[in-house]
Amino acid sequence: MRTDFTAEQLADPDTAESEKILRTCTHCGFCTATCPTYVLLGDELDSPRGRIYLIKDMLARGESPSADTVKHIDRCLSCLACMTTCPSGVNYMHLVDHARRWIEENYRRPPAERVLRRLLGTVLPRPGLFRLALLSANLARAFARLLPRRLAPLLALTPASAPPPSGTDRARVFPAEGEQRMRVALLPGCAQRVLAPEINEATIRLLTRLGCEVVIAPGVGCCGSLNHHLGQEAAALAFARNNIDAWERERLAGSIDAIVINASGCGTTVKDYAFMLREDSAYAEKAARIAALARDVTEIVEALGLPKPSQSAGRRLRVAYHSACSMQHGQRLHRLPQALLNAVGFETVEVPEGHICCGSAGTYNLLQPEIADKLRERKLANIAKTDPDLVATGNIGCITQLASRSSVPVVHTVELLDWAIGGPEPVAWRRYAAQRRATAGISNDKPSAETPIAVGVNQPAPPEASCSPAAPRSTQAIVIGS
Ligand code: SF4
Ligand code: SF4
Repeated sequence: MRTDFTAEQLADPDTAESEKILRTCTHCGFCTATCPTYVLLGDELDSPRGRIYLIKDMLARGESPSADTVKHIDRCLSCLACMTTCPSGVNYMHLVDHARRWIEENYRRPPAERVLRRLLGTVLPRPGLFRLALLSANLARAFARLLPRRLAPLLALTPASAPPPSGTDRARVFPAEGEQRMRVALLPGCAQRVLAPEINEATIRLLTRLGCEVVIAPGVGCCGSLNHHLGQEAAALAFARNNIDAWERERLAGSIDAIVINASGCGTTVKDYAFMLREDSAYAEKAARIAALARDVTEIVEALGLPKPSQSAGRRLRVAYHSACSMQHGQRLHRLPQALLNAVGFETVEVPEGHICCGSAGTYNLLQPEIADKLRERKLANIAKTDPDLVATGNIGCITQLASRSSVPVVHTVELLDWAIGGPEPVAWRRYAAQRRATAGISNDKPSAETPIAVGVNQPAPPEASCSPAAPRSTQAIVIGS
């Protein structure tokens, strides 16, 4: 693509980087077919190629963008399906990240939108505030009709209650069981630890049982991705620097083999710290070191090897594996989580249109609820075609998005791996199993707007807790290929 930035514009490192990216695009349009917003809306301006043109014009003009340009860029999910499809290697992620920063700095949004975005960027990354907000949401629900319409999706996706804080929330060291084979720092996350503390608990049980010492470094917090995707760069970089400092202290004190992340959206961001801080002379080197240590939890499980499944494994559960966009497109990890699940006895099935986003995309489902709802319904309809017992994925955003309307449990991949090698049943599966047993044979309710979308409704009521797919005694390791 031809560009005509001035020398003065190119003196800005972000513009210079975006110019390089723009020049790699050949306008071939291959990316349009896999872009969820283009597939849904059919508008070229809601396709990657259309947005690339809009971003080029916006940056070249160097002025405040029009409301229309902002609308089409806001509709982008940052799902990165276009990057997987693009034959020319266009780094759309860095381009749209720059565009979001530009909009944030040069465009004045309507007041309600400004307040909502500020609220999301302040509350969600801070577990204490987020927990408080969940309590206030119950109060807000009682006055829902008096609140601005923009807050409705926020309330709809907010759970009625949050689990109590977990012992894994605090900075501490979880020693390896048996011989220590690795020492890793776990990113405990922000919203995830409030909404589903069982994910960190399962991760720690799984890794320590596989011979890993797991450290939660003092001071570590949100990875910054929520603010990053809102274009709130100062806040995003402050979170990144904070984590880099925390992990560097830990690395210097006792060495770290890896930084483990169990939310693929966060993993994509931590792996990008080197790029995000490339112009910061005080942090560039440290950021590159930390980014190089970042791994999705499944990469660490693969490196450690899983115990061999026991011969007395219970019934094989059919798991629809939902490959989160940040996992498959952002980190290019797709087969590995499924291979691990297969290795411990689960039958995994690919979801049709698996490359299309479920609509979660960080805060997207709160800011673009209509498109997000359509994508969720499409995803759940595709999942239903596989008639699964449950759904597994590696990202809390997708779990929250899908579970809110799914008729079968949606769990994290590590919860299944942990269960298979001796941990407890995943919380969502246990609740579902109890409910199905209680209502087996008597539930013929007519679907309504609030009824969960039927996914795997033909499944019989799950048996008692002994249905764990595998409970191996052996510690013999098997190696899983990615
Ligand atoms: S596929 Fe790549 S090169 Fe082709 S239009 Fe899309 S981004 Fe540009
Ligand atoms: S990131 Fe996703 S939504 Fe955005 S342009 Fe690319 S494919 Fe479309």
